[in-house]
Amino acid sequence: MKKILVTGGAGFIGSHLCTRLLDEGHYVICLDNYFTGSKTNVFHLLDNPNFELLEHDIITPCCMDKQVDEIYNLACPASPIHYQYDPIKTVKTSVMGAINVLDLARKTGAKVLQASTSEVYGDPIVHPQNEAYWGNVNPIGRRSCYDEGKRCAETLFMDYYREKKVKIKIIRIFNTYGPRMLPNDGRVVSNFIIQALQGREITIYGDGSQTRSFQYVDDLIEGMVRMMNSGNEFVGPVNIGNPVEFTIKELAEKIIRLIDSPSKIVYKPLPSDDPKQRKPDISLAKSRLNWEPQIDLDEGLLRVIDYLKKQPIFTLS
Ligand code: NAD
Ligand code: UDP
Repeated sequence: MKKILVTGGAGFIGSHLCTRLLDEGHYVICLDNYFTGSKTNVFHLLDNPNFELLEHDIITPCCMDKQVDEIYNLACPASPIHYQYDPIKTVKTSVMGAINVLDLARKTGAKVLQASTSEVYGDPIVHPQNEAYWGNVNPIGRRSCYDEGKRCAETLFMDYYREKKVKIKIIRIFNTYGPRMLPNDGRVVSNFIIQALQGREITIYGDGSQTRSFQYVDDLIEGMVRMMNSGNEFVGPVNIGNPVEFTIKELAEKIIRLIDSPSKIVYKPLPSDDPKQRKPDISLAKSRLNWEPQIDLDEGLLRVIDYLKKQPIFTLS
């Protein structure tokens, strides 16, 4: 049994990761400040004697008295409306959070995995994106608190690896969806599904020709755990995402069809610096982790539709 710290463990992805690690028989410490996560997300784990919930803000040092074997660093708001709500705090969470988990890893000898993001590629000119691409990020735009914060966190991980011999792992996560994503966080999958379920207008930003590649959360968790369990010499970064690319218009049409919704599409202004295209090259994950996604978009969307239908916004009305 390993003792594993998951920062941001009460969030969407973190709660799935905690569940998986407990199922594997490990002891899990779930750290969160509940900014975008909640106890509801881990309610099903609270009775497990191997589960410990810790309210803490990762911008200050934590757990220096605890011996942990592994750390997954997920603490950071991920949706544009949440990370832009307090952009200075977002930078602090990424940068100071990275320093704090790296110092803890250094002290304990733990392996530490950073949940980085496809946003380090910004509005990419290279397509699909492979890990050798340095990206195209606007350093002074609305998205940069997140993009540059995550880029700096990668820098810190690599410097602690080179200078202080900390055992690190970096994964770059592409757009992920699944149960427990917040219905109101403005992300495209939840927005479109809720609009379609309510028969309201589906809001496409821009002309809908921008692309994204959507990964179901179970596929991500598998990739994440495989990366953590891979040999210490493989530090990444490695892309973890579904390489099947859709335009946002195609996504809207698919959701309307799956729900058989009367909703009509409307077009709204495109937010600044919105990436025009995004699709991971996953050759590295395939060869080093023997990993590739298993759940296609139709199947994954049907699961999320089923989940969102049961949320209070629908059941209370
Ligand atoms: P989420 O917002 O549901 O989860 C983030 C969690 O971190 C929340 O529980 C939140 O309360 C917590 N948190 C935020 N700031 C904190 C702080 N200062 N101290 C302690 N806890 C803090 O988002 P998610 O989608 O589950 O994302 C998890 C991680 O994966 C994030 O680091 C995100 O950048 C990364 N990621 C997610 C996606 C995606 O598509 N969901 C894509 C790329 C990267
Ligand atoms: N988007 C949209 N309508 C919405 C929400 C998002 O057209 O109601 C677009 C958004 O402009 C972007 C894409 O969908 O081009 C993905 O947005 P999301 O916020 O989910 O993720 P990210 O931009 O971080 O990839």
